[in-house]
Formats: sequence, C-alpha cells, structure tokens
Amino acid sequence: MQKKHSINNSSLTIDVEEYFQVEAFANNIKRSEWVNYPSRIEYQMQMLLDVLEETNVKATFFILGYIAERHPELIRLIAEKGHEIASHGFNHQHITKQNQKTFSSDIMQAKLLLEDIISAPVQGYRAPCFSITANNHWAHDEIVKAGYLYSSSTYPIAHDFYGVPDAPRTPYYLENGLLEIPISTAKYGKKNFPAGGGGYFRLLPYFIFSKILNTSQKQLDYINFYTHPWEYDPKQPKIESNVKSNFRHRINQGTALNKLKKLCKAYRFDTLANIHLMKDYPNLGKWTNIALGNSKV
Ligand SMILES: [Zn+2]
Repeated sequence: MQKKHSINNSSLTIDVEEYFQVEAFANNIKRSEWVNYPSRIEYQMQMLLDVLEETNVKATFFILGYIAERHPELIRLIAEKGHEIASHGFNHQHITKQNQKTFSSDIMQAKLLLEDIISAPVQGYRAPCFSITANNHWAHDEIVKAGYLYSSSTYPIAHDFYGVPDAPRTPYYLENGLLEIPISTAKYGKKNFPAGGGGYFRLLPYFIFSKILNTSQKQLDYINFYTHPWEYDPKQPKIESNVKSNFRHRINQGTALNKLKKLCKAYRFDTLANIHLMKDYPNLGKWTNIALGNSKV
C-alpha cells in the first residue's frame, strides 16, 4: 500500500460549482440560462465524497450559494462527514464584472445561506476564478466585512483568465486582518509554475504532477490543491464553445478520479481552517502593494 506523506500541512480544496457555471463558458452561457442545464452536482459529489471517505481525507469545500440553495441536503451531508464548509460566493461572476456593492451582497448572501444550512460559522472564501487582482482593491475589505476569516483567492502565476504573478506564494495577513492562503506554485528559475491542480492535474501524467507538487511543498512548506466536481464526469453534457475552452474543460476527465485517489492516498490532507487559522503568518500590509510584489517581505 502507498504510504502517506508524514507531514500534515496539506489541504485538498474543492470548488463546488456546476459544469455550466465555469468561467471558460461564461461567454457562451448567461447567468439567466443556467436553469436550462441539467444538474450533475449530486452525482459528481457522491464520487468525490466516496474517494475522500475511502482515503480518510478531510477537505475544504468552497460552495456556491446557487448550489446550496438547490441542494441543501448535499451541503449538510458534506458537513456531517467532517469536511469544512466554505464559500465560493453566490453567483460565480468574475470580480471584474461586479462592483463593490454587488460583490458585497454576493459573498454575504452565500455565507448566510451556508451558515443557515449547517448551523455553524463559515470562515473561508474563494473568489470565482481567482479573480481578485491589484485592481480590486476593495474586495478584501468586503470579505472581512462579510465576516470571513480567511480567503484563498490568489494564484501567483501568469494565466489568461486569472493570476497575480507577483503576489507572495505563501500565506500572509493583509492590513485589514484577513488571512490569504495562495494556491500552490513551484518556482523553477524565476518563473512560478502552477502546482495546485485544476486543468494541469488532468493534463499531466500523475508522476510528473506529483513531482511538481513535491517541489512546491518543499519550497512553501504546505500544499493548497484545488479541484472541481465537474472534472471527474465525462458524461456531462457538452457545451458549445471554442476548441481551446472545450479541450481545457474536458481533457482526461475519464481518468481523473483514479489520479485523485492516488493523490489522496499519498498526502495527509486536512482542511485549510485546521491547518492555517492558528498559525503565525506575517502581516504584509496593503493589498495593492502585495499584488504588485512591493510588500514588506
Ligand atoms: Zn469557481
């Protein structure tokens, strides 16, 4: 049997959204058209929950309010299994498409609904598509105002949809007291390479991906891996979109569950709240400086 890594500094996080809500298809499917697509979330989540149970992993689930509103029993089930319930906002709109007011009500609404369903506080937030950049200087203040203790919304890489390439790669506090826990990256030379999951996890052979992840773990002293339920469901309806978006979305969905099982057997995953909330991290000051790589550390 594969042996688990002995270090307990790794988190598996799952962004709970439907296949028709992803940013890559946002130009093809309007928010008002979501109701026309059949839900696959219960089926996909059952697969993931079974893998986590089998491998004895506790994960953090960033759940969309839209999903929680339609599947409250699913949210209660996740919580009953001992996983962390966190928020992915309500309507999964890229922050650049929201103003301060709509963003504030989106993240507040999702938090209140999730807390109502599980009767416990929700501490963590993840922005749709890691879309907080140096330009959204107000976003972190709204996250604190809504009552969240931490955010895991930055990916310090260069990418066409997301990423703040100059932001720090390890956790830090912002001036307003919010803890940010970045997604895992590996540094080769001067370049940050994505090591935290998503499409790369499906695209690369497992042994290459785990090598990159191990390098990242050594460099950062923790792992923050992310994935989505739709990544494991090759039978989901096909969305009419461009070749690039469809390739990224569908690549290796049929083999991804076995890879995830391997990953869960190899690492001692625990929730972001359990691993990071009691730790001592530096306060790096103002977000705009941090995002541009000009923070104190
Ligand atoms: Zn998302």
